[in-house]
Formats: sequence, C-alpha cells, structure tokens
Amino acid sequence: MKMHIAGNWTDGPAAQQVINPFDGSVIDEVPAADADAVDRAIAAAYRASERARSAPAAERQALMNRAGALADERVPELAETIARECGKTLREATVEASRAGDLIRLAGHEGAQLYGTGLPLDAHPGAGTQRLGFTLREPCGVVAAITPFNFPLLLVLHKIAPALGAGNAVILKPASHTPLTALQLTEIFLDAGFDPELVSCITGSGGVIGDALSADERVRKISFTGSTEVGNRITQRAGVKKLSLELGASCPTVVLDDADVEKAASAIAAGGYANAGQVCISVQRAIVQEGVYGDFLDALSAKVRDLRTGDPFAESTDVGPLVSEREAERVERSIRASVERGSELLLGGERSGALLQPAIVANVDVHDPLSQEELFGPAVAVTKVASVDEAIAAANGTRYGLGAGVFTGNLGSSIRFIREVRAGVVHANWTPLWRADLMPYGGMKASGIGKEGIRSSVSEMTEEKTVVLHGDV
Ligand code: NAP
Repeated sequence: MKMHIAGNWTDGPAAQQVINPFDGSVIDEVPAADADAVDRAIAAAYRASERARSAPAAERQALMNRAGALADERVPELAETIARECGKTLREATVEASRAGDLIRLAGHEGAQLYGTGLPLDAHPGAGTQRLGFTLREPCGVVAAITPFNFPLLLVLHKIAPALGAGNAVILKPASHTPLTALQLTEIFLDAGFDPELVSCITGSGGVIGDALSADERVRKISFTGSTEVGNRITQRAGVKKLSLELGASCPTVVLDDADVEKAASAIAAGGYANAGQVCISVQRAIVQEGVYGDFLDALSAKVRDLRTGDPFAESTDVGPLVSEREAERVERSIRASVERGSELLLGGERSGALLQPAIVANVDVHDPLSQEELFGPAVAVTKVASVDEAIAAANGTRYGLGAGVFTGNLGSSIRFIREVRAGVVHANWTPLWRADLMPYGGMKASGIGKEGIRSSVSEMTEEKTVVLHGDV
C-alpha cells in the first residue's frame, strides 16, 4: 500500500515490509518515509487545519457519522488485517474492529460539544458590570498521532477520531509492525468525505522520522502511545507544544484473603494473556495474600493450562503469536532469568517461533525485574504477601502507574486500595484489563501524562481562549 500525505496516496524514497508474525510471510510493503515527506505532510496539514477551523461543528459531525457507518461495513476486512499484521486471534481482532463505528460516532458527538464557560468578571475589583467574559474551545491545529502495534485499530482511533471530531488536522504515524490497519482507517475517513489534506498517514521507521514530526513547531499537539523510552525521547524533542503520553506499565492485581478466588483467577487468566499479554493494561503481577495463595495458584493454573496457542485464524486458538519472533525470544529470556534468580515456573514459557506458551511464574520477589520491568508477553508473575499494607506497597512498588485491580469481599479494603494505589485507572473486583472507550484513561508516574477516552482526548486536543467584551466603560 501507499501512504497518504499532503492529500495524495504516495510512495516513499524506500519501502518496508509488513510481516505476518505467525508464519513469517510478507503481507505487503509500505513506504519508508523520510524527513522530507514529514515536512510535506505537516505543511499540508497546517493549511488544512486553518480551513477546518472555520467549518461548523455540525458539518464535521456529519462526516464522522459517515465514517462510523463505513467502519461498521468494513469490520471483516479490518479484523482480518489486524489478525494478519499483529498476530492477535481473529476472534480478538473482530472484537477490536467492531468497536470502531461507535468510537468514531462518539468522537463526532464529543467533538461537536466544545463548551465554554461564563466568567464572573464583575467579581474582579474595578471591573464593573459593563464587561462580559467567557471562554471558547478551539481546535489546537495539527495533531501528530504516534501509535504502537498492539491495538492497531483502537489505539489509532482513540487519537485520530477525537482529533478530527474536534476540528484538527491529523498526521498519523503507525507502528512499523502494523501500518496496514492504520492505512485502511485513513481510507475510511477519506471515503467519508474529509478534506484529503486534513488526514495523513505516514509510514516508516519512528527512529528515522520521529524526531522530524515531534520537533516541528507547526505541530501543536503530540498524542503518543508506546514505550516509556520513546515517550521520553519525544518529550525531549517536542519543545513548546501540548503532549499526551500513554506509556509502559507493569500492572498489578491484588487478591486478598477475603476475595472470591475463583472469580479472581478467571479474570486474571483473561487479563494476563489476552493478545498474548501484549496489552499495556495486562495483568503482569498478581499480588496474593498468603491465606489464599495456594488456592489461587491452583485455580489460575487450571485455567491457563486450557489456553490454546496457535494460528490466529483458527477458531480454537486462544493465544496467537507475539508480534515478532524477536519479541517472543525477549519475553522467554525474561521468564528464564527470573527463574534463575529463584522464581518458580509453574507452567508454560516454551517457545516455538513467535508463539510462547502462556506462563505462570510463582514466588516472584517484588524487586525482581519480572515485577519491575514491563514484560509485554503472556506471563503472570505471582507474589505472596502477608497483609493489605504489604499488598498496597507491592502494587505501588514499581516506576509505573497505569492500571491496577483488587479482588476483595471487603468494601473498606477496596476503598483503601482505590485511595492509596497510584495508578491512573483502578478497578475493584476486576483486573486492569477493562476499558470503556468513553472513560478517562491514562497513567501516572512513568506510565504517562494526560488522559485519553474520547471526551478527555477532545479536551486535550482543543485549546481554551478567553474572551472579554468591553461595553460602555
Ligand atoms: P514503541 O516501540 O515505543 O513504538 C511506539 C511508536 O513510536 C511506533 O509508531 C514507533 O515507530 C514510534 N517511534 C519509535 N521511535 C520513535 C521516535 N524516536 N520518535 C517518535 N516516534 C517513535 O512501542 P511499541 O513496541 O509499538 O508498543 C508497545 C509499548 O506501548 C509498550 O511499552 C506498551 O506498554 C505501550 N502501550 C501503552 C499504552 C497505554 O495506554 N499506556 C497502550 C498500548 C501500548 P516504529 O514502530 O517505526 O519504531
């Protein structure tokens, strides 16, 4: 496929292959852009954003509704592309693709609701009553949307839908592993009738074009989802612009002695291995109180043993490959190293190409790298704790703070957990792996800055202008 920049589908100075992680076959080639292509995309986006500013909100909401309908029609194609380039099962990919239409319509609605506030200026000494003040929300202009591989549709749409819904131009830079879903989404917005210069999708290596995109002054807002390392680099390059950073994690789920252990084990078996554990809100750490530690391990093992790995297109597959063999090797190494340091591998961990058997690693020390560093793979590290205090300290004991969950039958313990755990999203009686597209979503600490979730994104992709009308003064 070609990339879409400056209003045209275009080739780049070179090309890069998109590989199917399950069988290593080449699915397609996309352009590998350079800094010159970035410059052309930004120039066109800037022009288009100036035109978009004066368009009524009702017009863009109508375009968003049309895009939503097209996304509904194209669910099967989108799902197939996601499964092929990302490796997640077709079942999971279909769930992801099925959320597109509603998400776009929600962004169309929220983007048309740019409310301001009346200001009580007469409360300022000497201002009198002949002045009126209020605020307006305006699109911020050009939004750069830089996205990861693990949800090639949802995490792209969580940026480009609110950006366009709120009247901005957007330059999307998808992950090199998964550019095809992003290009299909770009087609949807163009087919819906958006100004072609308003929507660009630039493909190529982030290491080559990322700086040009991040540092350019015409880009007013960067919305980035990816690793904390790349987020740090973008922050250093960005200069004066608005930044939202959705970064890495090592999400904990606490299971207390008074929890429904069966329910906790089922939820953790789902939340630790979905998309082969390549979810920022995966359950990476299960922190379990000693009274139910053995029962919990038995219950979790029974469920994880039943998970079948294999071809993402096979009905029977629960866990597909990781995004590449290299990634599978990295995760395998991390598990082995933890076991060499004294953790206990209860099951899984065997690798074949990019497929890794879902693993449970027990007796993991809270300071072990398997707890401390983001794993991004199909393994849950289980740690025993003696008390609620110790559980909360362990949950808080990494540099990350994206999502956290607690299972307990005690409302007081839930409330303590909610108040004391430093995470952007906290779940009582569920794991962090749950998201509604409308809710504020984002991390604390090294997991990021700012919030996504459509209403929050619209707020972060618009700017407030203060207006003062001076009457008879
Ligand atoms: P990544 O390696 O950080 O890449 C993310 C995006 O940044 C890709 O499009 C990448 O392009 C681009 N990039 C690379 N270097 C860049 C640079 N110097 N300047 C600008 N952009 C650059 O992350 P990933 O491996 O795709 O995704 C996994 C990570 O994403 C995990 O850490 C996960 O926790 C995080 N994540 C967080 C959330 C959240 O909501 N907090 C959600 C999902 C994923 P290339 O692909 O071309 O290198």
